[in-house]
Amino acid sequence: MTQVVVPLSNPEPRFLIAGSEHAKAAGADLVEVRLDLCLAEGGSAAGILACLPSLALPAIVTLRHCREHGSWDGSEDERLALYAQADAAGAAWIDRELVFHAARPWRPKRARLILSYHDFSGPGAALVDKIMAMRACHADLAKVAVTPHDAADLDGVRRLVDGDGPVAAMAMGEHGLPSRLLAGVWGSALVFARLPGDAGSAPGQPTTDDLLGMCRLRAQTPATAVYGVIGSPIAHSLSPLVHNLAFAHHHLDAVYAPFRVEDAPAFWDACGSWIRGLSITIPHKHALQGRMDDLEPLCDLVGAMNTIYRRDDRLTGANTDADAIRRCGERAIGELNDRRVLVLGAGGAGRAAVFALKAAGAQVALANRTTARAEELAREVGCRAVPWQSLASEPFELLVNMTAVGLKAPTDTPWPHLFPSGSGVFDSVYNPLETRLIRDAAAAGCRTVLGLDMFIDQACAQFRRWTGLEAPAELMRAACLKRLGG
Ligand code: NAP
Repeated sequence: MTQVVVPLSNPEPRFLIAGSEHAKAAGADLVEVRLDLCLAEGGSAAGILACLPSLALPAIVTLRHCREHGSWDGSEDERLALYAQADAAGAAWIDRELVFHAARPWRPKRARLILSYHDFSGPGAALVDKIMAMRACHADLAKVAVTPHDAADLDGVRRLVDGDGPVAAMAMGEHGLPSRLLAGVWGSALVFARLPGDAGSAPGQPTTDDLLGMCRLRAQTPATAVYGVIGSPIAHSLSPLVHNLAFAHHHLDAVYAPFRVEDAPAFWDACGSWIRGLSITIPHKHALQGRMDDLEPLCDLVGAMNTIYRRDDRLTGANTDADAIRRCGERAIGELNDRRVLVLGAGGAGRAAVFALKAAGAQVALANRTTARAEELAREVGCRAVPWQSLASEPFELLVNMTAVGLKAPTDTPWPHLFPSGSGVFDSVYNPLETRLIRDAAAAGCRTVLGLDMFIDQACAQFRRWTGLEAPAELMRAACLKRLGG
C-alpha cells in the first residue's frame, strides 16, 4: 500500500505539530520533518526533535546536505549525532543518502532506515543497481527520486518497482508529476504530497487534494486503468478534473493524469503500452496519427487528433473537438443542414470547425485575420472565404469564434459589429467563462453557447469512446465552473 507523506519544514515546534494535524486531516499517513530546512530557518534541533512524539503522524526525519540539494552543511559526524537523537526521540524513519551511507554505514536503533538516491538535474543512471546497493546495505526502504528530461523518461521510473522489496520511486518536476499521481498503480511505497497552499519540499509534488481526492490514490491498484492528457504546457488543463470525476461517478477502476510532454512520439513509444486512452492537446494534435491502426473519418479529414482509444486491441484516433463543435452549433440554432454559418479563425480549432460544420451540411463561410490562411483552408474544405475587413456586412445565422480573441482579455472581441436578429453565437474561448463576444451577443438577444460547453462536450465524447458510458456532463460542468470561479 502506498503511504502518503506530507513534508514539513517549519522551524517552530508548535507549527510542526499543527502541520502534522493538517496532514492527518488531509488523509496523509506520515509526515517528513525536513530537519535541514527547519534548522536553516533558525529552528533548534533539540526543540524540533522533542516534538516528534507530539506529532499527529509518524515522522520520517531527513537531514539533507547542501550537496544533495538540502540545507545542511555540517559534518557527517554532526549529522549522525542528530540522526541518533532523532532515533531516540521517536522518529519512525530516518532517510539517509546512499552515497553517504556507503561511505560510512550507520543504522538507527529503533527507527527504520530509508536509503535514498536523488538526481535533481536528470533521469539518473544505473537506478536498478542503486536499489540493489540499498538493499545490500539492509535498507528497510529504497527510495529513488530523479528528474525526467521529458515524460518518456517516466517509464524507467515506473519499472523500478520490482516486487523484490519496497521501493519508493518518483520523478520530480512537472514532467514527473504522473509518477506521483499514479503512485498506487505503479506500487511505489511512498508518495510525497503537499498541503494545499504549501510549497512542498521538492519540485512537482501534487497537493493532497489532487492525489487523494481527484486521483483517488487509495483506490489505485496495479490493475487500475491509466488514462491521461498530453500537451505542453499542461498544468492549466481541466481534463484531469473532469475525467477523474467521471471515472469516480461511474465507480470505474481508472485514473487520469496530466502528462507534460515535449516529444509526443517518444512519449507514446515509451509509455503507450500502459496507457488505456489519451487526450491530446496543443502542440501535439498532429503528432501521433502515424502510430494509430485506424483514424475516425472526421479525424482523418480534419488532419488533427485529440483522442486515442482502443477498440478490439486496435488503436484508434478521433477528433472529439469536431464532434463538440457540431453539437454546440446545434445547441445554438438547432439543425445545421443548409444554415449559414460564419466561422472566425483558421487555426487548429477553426480547421476542426469548418470540417465539422461542413460535414453537418451547413453553408460555411470562413474569415481569418491572416487572409491567405482562410483562403487556403476554404479551398481545401470547399467553402467560401470572407475578407476580415468586410465581415460587418456578412450575413449569418450562426457565428462561431475559433480565434484566440478574448482569451484572458475580457474586453477584446472578434465581432465589434451588429448581430443579425435571431442569430446564434458560439465562442470557443472559455477563459474567461463569459467573453465580451458572449455578453454582447446575449445583450443583442442572440442565443449563446459558451466555450466551456465545447470543452465538456469534447470530454464527454472522449469518455464515451473509452468506456461506452455517458459522462456526467452537468457534474463536470459544475466542477469546471467552481475551478474557474464562475
Ligand atoms: P491556433 O491554432 O493558434 O489559432 C489561433 C487563431 O486565432 C488563428 O486563426 C489566429 O489568426 C487567430 N487570432 C489570434 N489572435 C488574433 C487577433 N488578435 N485577431 C484576430 N485573430 C486572431 O489556436 P487554436 O488551437 O485554433 O485555438 C483557437 C481558440 O480556440 C483558442 O481561444 C482556444 O482557447 C479555443 N479552443 C477551445 C476549445 C474548447 O474546448 N472550448 C478547444 C480548442 C480550442 P491568424 O491566423 O491571423 O494568426
